[in-house]
Amino acid sequence: MTIEPVRPEGRRTPIGDTIPESKLPPLTGNQRMVYEALLGLGRAAKAYELLDMLRADGVKAAPTVYRALHELRDKGLVQHIVSSRTFVALKEVENNLEESVTFICEDCGEARTMESKQLINVLKSQARKSGFSVKSYHVEIATSCGGECKARTS
Ligand SMILES: [Zn+2]
Repeated sequence: MTIEPVRPEGRRTPIGDTIPESKLPPLTGNQRMVYEALLGLGRAAKAYELLDMLRADGVKAAPTVYRALHELRDKGLVQHIVSSRTFVALKEVENNLEESVTFICEDCGEARTMESKQLINVLKSQARKSGFSVKSYHVEIATSCGGECKARTS
């Protein structure tokens, strides 16, 4: 078990602390700030919460944050959690977010995404059998993250 240093909430985590710069796609200044803010939180957050964190860095408007979040999602660094309208930073580039399943802790907001092509295929085939053709999907599973839950340990 590794013990991670506790960072105060509301501070950006430099990307290099989490993911080697060499493994990142090129990021604009705004994308970098938003990604670092999400990494610093270590949990899912709403865009307005990120905006509050980034005001001191000169980010003034929600659309700036939304734009950066959607660009980061397209680059595979941020997952949009549709059910809670939040975003979570991924710690490595995830190129198959459309074929992934996200587990979300209802208590602390911790979210983990994993690729699951098989499950998605089963769901698509079930939809077809029922006469539906799938247009888009978000597989999100509400969980409790267990012994290491930040909501219980803090
Ligand atoms: Zn939890």
